[in-house]
Amino acid sequence: MEIWPYMAGIGIIAGLGHLTLFVLILFRRDKMMGERLALLYLGLGLLWGTAVILIAPVFPPAVAELAGRLAPVLVTALVVTQLVLTCSFLEVSWLSTAAAAGGTWTVILLLATLYFLGATPPPIPLQQVAQGGWAVIAAILIGLLATTLVRSRLALHRNRALYWLLTTVPLIAGQAFSLLPGGLLRGTGTLFHLAGGIILVRGVTSYWLPNIKAKLRSLLRLFLLFVITAILLLGVVLGAERFSDQLPLSHTSLVVVLAVIAALIYLPLYQWLQRLVNRLLAGMGFDPAQILREYSQTIGAILNLDQLARTVLHTVAEVLGVQQGALLVAIDTGTEKLRLQPISGLGRVSQVPVELDPASPILARILEDDDPLFQYEVEQHPGLQKAAPWERDWLRDLEMEVYLPIRSQGDLIGLLALGPQGTGEPYDPRATEFLSTLAQQTGVALQNARLFESLLDRNARITELNKSLRAAYERLERLDQGKSDFLTIASHELRTPLTQMRGYLEVLIDMAQTETLPQEQTLSLAESIARPTRRLEHIIGAMIDASEIDAEGLTLHFAPATLESTMRTALKPWLSALKERSITLTVWGLEDIAPIHADTERLCQAFSNLVSNGIKFTPDGGRITIGAHPLDDEHFKVTIADTGVGISSIDQELIFEKFYRVGSVNLHSSGQSKFKGAGPGLGLPIVRGVVEGHGGCIWVESEGCDEAQCPGSTFHIVLPYEAHRDPCRWKRPGNG
Ligand code: ADP
Repeated sequence: MEIWPYMAGIGIIAGLGHLTLFVLILFRRDKMMGERLALLYLGLGLLWGTAVILIAPVFPPAVAELAGRLAPVLVTALVVTQLVLTCSFLEVSWLSTAAAAGGTWTVILLLATLYFLGATPPPIPLQQVAQGGWAVIAAILIGLLATTLVRSRLALHRNRALYWLLTTVPLIAGQAFSLLPGGLLRGTGTLFHLAGGIILVRGVTSYWLPNIKAKLRSLLRLFLLFVITAILLLGVVLGAERFSDQLPLSHTSLVVVLAVIAALIYLPLYQWLQRLVNRLLAGMGFDPAQILREYSQTIGAILNLDQLARTVLHTVAEVLGVQQGALLVAIDTGTEKLRLQPISGLGRVSQVPVELDPASPILARILEDDDPLFQYEVEQHPGLQKAAPWERDWLRDLEMEVYLPIRSQGDLIGLLALGPQGTGEPYDPRATEFLSTLAQQTGVALQNARLFESLLDRNARITELNKSLRAAYERLERLDQGKSDFLTIASHELRTPLTQMRGYLEVLIDMAQTETLPQEQTLSLAESIARPTRRLEHIIGAMIDASEIDAEGLTLHFAPATLESTMRTALKPWLSALKERSITLTVWGLEDIAPIHADTERLCQAFSNLVSNGIKFTPDGGRITIGAHPLDDEHFKVTIADTGVGISSIDQELIFEKFYRVGSVNLHSSGQSKFKGAGPGLGLPIVRGVVEGHGGCIWVESEGCDEAQCPGSTFHIVLPYEAHRDPCRWKRPGNG
């Protein structure tokens, strides 16, 4: 029997089929990479189908010979394109390597075929070489699919690989048949190929693929039902034949009895089978309504975000066997961006938040669509593929399979992110419906928990603010007290010398009127008047200096000087007081400081104030130590330490404020070198004004104020060698 007419017929059907698929893809707009490769594949398939037809003996022998020689090359080109297409479909990284190697091999084969076209048979067994090459490439293809199937963690990705396996098997079988010598098999090969081509076109034109396992199972269910029905019918027919002689029943009655028995068995068997298959298909042996009822009762009382995340995820874990999940809480950033903060509740989940851009297609999909978003869509949906890489990377790193929007009054407040199901199956409609309802119920609880957490947060912030407000208030109160004290002190400071002056002047006038004024007494009285005058001058000078510092800073005149001479001048007026109070003065390191550029008079005033304070707050017999050492190329440091009463930590900052003085104003004494004698509280503000006016800084260290123990105080002054008006450039270690 001639087989070529059948082959030609098959070839024409397959060719038309391939042509239809080719045209279908050709006219699609915005073709993606997969579609372009599929177009190439189908084009090659068309050429190959034509070659198969041309092999038929109706055509001139030369044409049939050429077609026969080119067919293996075309099959090679097909399998190579298929490998590249598979790499692209499964997003395999070595796509370009596969394309380069496969392309080269095809070109070599084509050139060799064309070169030996005249030679019959060709000197090299090209047919066998092509078959060998094809087998190797086909094996790589199958191996690639198998490893992808095994490695895919997410069910929808595995489904994709499974789908592609369904495409690959008929395509490879079709190509294999065409390489076989038998004519009819060759023809059948093109039909197989067409079947594979149809599945392939469906796969590359739509990212959402049918659930292959579920489809296979429903086929299995149909098949099983068919088998059971057939067996029962066969049982009736065969039983009627077998037992018609042995039973006292007519043939017809026996058939009726057997049919009734078969029908009785059939119904429960069918139902049992249905249940079995349904369980296999749905994989959910639970009552969603019952679980959701219990769940809503449990979460009603939860106000803690972590606890809520744990409860919802453990419910899902129990029902669907999910082992990885998180609650992604939407946080308002005050901008249009939406921050998602994962709160882990199941498995190990990255805690890194992400900010989704308002223009992000992923955000748009979540905001506008109530349907669950699958990780598979994020990776395969053409629209979502345009999302920023970091957004897609962030979602991929979470290793979740599905995201369910959680809303409250229509606003998105979070996402329930879940990993793969325990069964490894994709989430089917029943599972997603259950999860969507669960997410809906979680909305109110999540909103409550968020409000409660923000309330707690605000409460903590208010407590914190209250604390700093209290501290600020206490500080202001102390400063204010300082100012009120100042009035008392100032009136005392000003009135005492004035009273003294007036007293002496009255005596002077009286004596002058009675003309009983010897020269010696005149001098002594004049000296007694001069002393309070100097004191008055000093206080008024300090007040003017303080107001100058406040207004625009001290006017300073920098000139070359040395630290040693400046300090010596500052110390001179205090030497007698030191002696009188038996206070030991130690000075070191001043001569090691290089010449400076400064306002000597003001610097001298600052040192003098500090030494005066040291004397005033150190008991008799104490010690004052003045030292200096270089700090860096630009700065040096002077320390003035005493063994006095010390300064409490709370006062260490305040004493540099104007009019602030420690202790009760009633204990005030105006003596300049008396123990605990204090002035109007302007000494240290002036010192700070002078030091900062030179581009330096000053601070005090003391273990506290204790008149019995006398922990002492140390004033640190950092100054630049070259004074300048900028803020201090030296940074105090550990103090910003
Ligand atoms: P006054 O001009 O009244 O002396 P200051 O501004 O110089 O004021 O000092 C303010 C306060 O700082 C003083 O009243 C004193 O309580 C405290 N004080 C300053 N120097 C020392 C020191 N060396 N030891 C202890 N307390 C000090």
